[in-house]
Amino acid sequence: MTSLPPLRDVISKYGLSASKALGQNFLFDHQLLARIAKVPGQIDGAEVFEVGPGPGGLTRALLQGGASVTAVERDRRCIPALEELGSFFPGKLKVIEGDALEVDAPALFQGKPHVVANLPYNVGTALLVGWLSAAWEPWWASLTLMFQKEVAERIVAEAGSEHYGRLAVLSQWRSTPKIAMNVHRSAFTPPPKVMSAVVHIVPADAPEGVRLKTLENLTAAAFGQRRKMLRQSLKGVPGAIEAMETLGIDSARRAETVSVAEFVALARTLG
Ligand code: SAM
Repeated sequence: MTSLPPLRDVISKYGLSASKALGQNFLFDHQLLARIAKVPGQIDGAEVFEVGPGPGGLTRALLQGGASVTAVERDRRCIPALEELGSFFPGKLKVIEGDALEVDAPALFQGKPHVVANLPYNVGTALLVGWLSAAWEPWWASLTLMFQKEVAERIVAEAGSEHYGRLAVLSQWRSTPKIAMNVHRSAFTPPPKVMSAVVHIVPADAPEGVRLKTLENLTAAAFGQRRKMLRQSLKGVPGAIEAMETLGIDSARRAETVSVAEFVALARTLG
């Protein structure tokens, strides 16, 4: 088998200059890409759903790790480059041209894939919120997602920290998120303005008797006025003041001090 052409050659062969409009910042460092591909754990023989493969740097690392990859890419220019990559790994790479926000991802898999993506910040956050809000158990085995560092910190934040808010509660009430590694802006071409981090999220059991909608109403109200006392910010949530009393949660506290477990307990009490 002929060896894989260097990624930079692929980019010039297919004219894949990075498009700002598509949020393209490519990764070239083999060692870094191999480390990201290892974040989900053992991927040899596993199915991976890759979103936004671009010229395919991360896709290569995943294929070299033995994964079967289904990749969705919006930029038509990248498709022939990805198809060429697929010819080096027969039967292991399926490329779909499309918008990941519109693709019916669960329908693409028999089992539960690991999701791996280095995406533009806004698309990544929208997908994450959608995946975390869907029916549980999820259709994915784990999520390995590159984010702007500040967003990664919001996902893993604990109560009492400055980044703690709705995204932390949504990410933690039935999953375990961790920052797997920080990635310096200079690792990307072109370099973005901010630092990045790879977040690894593994699903957990959903707490019993808790509706996501109730939890969301609570966190929206509480963090919508995060500097106010709960007795003020939760005024408009029917039953919330009584639920705090029942649970012994001091209504003079502010949202940012309320742990995920306490929000879950409140939501359960509200039903
Ligand atoms: N994964 C590659 C890498 O690590 O070098 C490319 C990363 S680049 C930050 C993001 C990629 O996501 C681009 O190739 C872009 O075209 C693609 N993309 C942007 N929005 C998308 C969407 N809604 N659906 C699918 N792909 C998208």
